[in-house]
Amino acid sequence: MDLLQTPIEYLKGIGPNRASLLKEELGIKTYQDLLHFFPNRYIDRTTFYAISKLPQNTSEVQIKGTILSHKIIPQAKGKRLAAIFSDGSSTIELVWFRGYKWIQESLKKNTTYIVFGRLNWYGSKASIAHPELTPEDEYKQSNLGAFHPVYPSTEKLINKGISQRVMKQSMEHLFRQVHKEFHETLPTYIIEELKLISRKEATIQIHFPANQHQLTRAQFRLKFEELFYIQMQLLQKNRLQKQKVKGYVFENVGVNFNEFYTKYLPFQLTNAQQRVVREIRNDMGTGKQMNRLLQGDVGSGKTMVALLSMLIGLDNGFQACMMAPTEILAQQHYKSLEESLGGMPLNIALLTGSSKTAQRKEIHQALEDGSLHILIGTHALIEEKVRFKNLGIAIVDEQHRFGVAQRAKLWRKNTLPPHVLVMTATPIPRTLAMSVYGDLDISVIDELPPGRKSIKTVLRSDSNRLQVFQFIREEIKLGKQIYVVYPLIQESEKMDYKDLMDGYESLTREFPLPDYRISIVHGKMKPKDKDIEMQRFVEGKTQLMVATTVIEVGVNVPNASVMIIESAERFGLSQLHQLRGRVGRGNDQSYCILMSGHKKSKVASTRLQTMVQTNDGFEIAEVDLRLRGPGDLMGTQQSGVLELKIADLLKDQELLKTARYYAKKIITEDPELVDKTHREVRITYSKITAHKNIWNYIS
Ligand code: ADP
Ligand code: MG
Repeated sequence: MDLLQTPIEYLKGIGPNRASLLKEELGIKTYQDLLHFFPNRYIDRTTFYAISKLPQNTSEVQIKGTILSHKIIPQAKGKRLAAIFSDGSSTIELVWFRGYKWIQESLKKNTTYIVFGRLNWYGSKASIAHPELTPEDEYKQSNLGAFHPVYPSTEKLINKGISQRVMKQSMEHLFRQVHKEFHETLPTYIIEELKLISRKEATIQIHFPANQHQLTRAQFRLKFEELFYIQMQLLQKNRLQKQKVKGYVFENVGVNFNEFYTKYLPFQLTNAQQRVVREIRNDMGTGKQMNRLLQGDVGSGKTMVALLSMLIGLDNGFQACMMAPTEILAQQHYKSLEESLGGMPLNIALLTGSSKTAQRKEIHQALEDGSLHILIGTHALIEEKVRFKNLGIAIVDEQHRFGVAQRAKLWRKNTLPPHVLVMTATPIPRTLAMSVYGDLDISVIDELPPGRKSIKTVLRSDSNRLQVFQFIREEIKLGKQIYVVYPLIQESEKMDYKDLMDGYESLTREFPLPDYRISIVHGKMKPKDKDIEMQRFVEGKTQLMVATTVIEVGVNVPNASVMIIESAERFGLSQLHQLRGRVGRGNDQSYCILMSGHKKSKVASTRLQTMVQTNDGFEIAEVDLRLRGPGDLMGTQQSGVLELKIADLLKDQELLKTARYYAKKIITEDPELVDKTHREVRITYSKITAHKNIWNYIS
């Protein structure tokens, strides 16, 4: 039996009670789990700082010197003991607010002390409150002067006596038992090329580092290993998927595509659009099913790429469909596609929840007999009754609202799955995309159509409201239209609706008929009424649109130039970016006004500042990732893959690339891992994939 799989309760000093606590609180069940439970930080007591060169932050430092003077100082509440401590380079103040009488008596002036504690800065002056103060003799005799690991812990563990000391002792017991169990997990040539330390050495040094240098090498080695095996799994998964999933071959670019391109294309494609269309065309010609993610910031022109892709499908004798997450959006797509395709002999239809029964029947029929070429719609497309004759390409707009299983329903009648293009304006940071999707094909439109002016974003509070109204008036005078968006969150729905209606009322007072007309759209309205209101705004019959986030996705009114977001601090970053993307779609200057009170959390402030500073969706996504942590990001929830033990996807990007390079090389040269040099990889890989099946986590 594998010693490392021994339940943790058999480890000296643990026993059944502590074992169940460790399991509950930290998920540690076996010797192996404990071995791979890494410290999340270290206290470095091996080096001394010079007081003149202390870091300008609040880190913990160790210094060596003597006490020059000390006195008790009265202050607003109670007293404090202050000592001036010198190491020859400069001085620092040590302070105590409690127990100072007793401490003052024990302070000796002609003794060398080792001081350890956290820095506080008041301007250019540093001090340490309640430092740990040890006479040098005593320090030398103890084991204080080492690198001390600090393990992640919980309140419960600490209350039940599982202290850092207990963790450290348990690690020592563990290493005494398992020191013969370490096997190398990486090929010799990688170890040599990257000058890695052995797995055994790294595991020892990560728990008991001798110094910073050893610790850094241990971290490097273990991070690399972690990232390498994640990449191995992703690339292997992709390889198998590509082998298995055959797709229709779209060989021809024919009359539909060409005629549209030469006669009806309303503008010249941007370079990025052209490149992406080429990528898609190549992909659909390979005989494998296309599974491509199309990322492009709001307004970058994804719809046209979708249309051209569908036309290629039609040229090869297939049908095409496009699913949108909301009724409004589906309608808008339908209208704009129908318009674009105006002169061409193609049948295109719209199917949503509110389509009439007779209409539905007609659509179902035309789909089955193949006379309908393009179907646009919402969730209604995946209903049982919807059966295509031969669906060749499916476009999914705004990926995160449809599950994989739902998508699969689309092609129940096909002999082969159709090509799938998923479009999203929520950019997944490149780092994440690479590590989560591995080789899933990603196309990026990284260029906006020419002539767009970048949207000016400002932060305003209630006290500026009159100026904001004035600004709205001026824009309306210029013939522009305005959005005013209110948050709507399920938990506070009642209050939110009240805010929305109050806001609407005050706007109707400020902007009265007959000079001004205001639309309102929110989730409690009937779809039909929503559409009427939306339509009035689209046609320019109303100048203001008051709405909840229903307008978040995709709505296109190029004449709208101002987006006002109320209680902006309550929105997430990607949502704010999406909303802002509703303006700036024409060639005139557009504005985004973030309304917010003064009281907001630090994270909320960062979000709003980020919006003010940048229009770049990728940059915003990176900040979002940093603020929320990867587990929380749209589309990657529960992706499991991201629960890294030691590597950090943001900080270790370079190492990720290296790991990916080696993984790719191995899988290309020796996919079955039969070569002698890959023995370690084969064994480790099969162990990992036997224990957890990460493939389940990835769509
Ligand atoms: P999104 O990527 O957000 O879905 P859309 O496809 O709705 O963006 O395009 C936004 C606007 O830009 C539309 O009005 C569209 O007609 C226009 N547009 C798209 N591509 C170009 C281009 N190459 N040149 C000029 N305008 C374009
Ligand atoms: Mg769109």
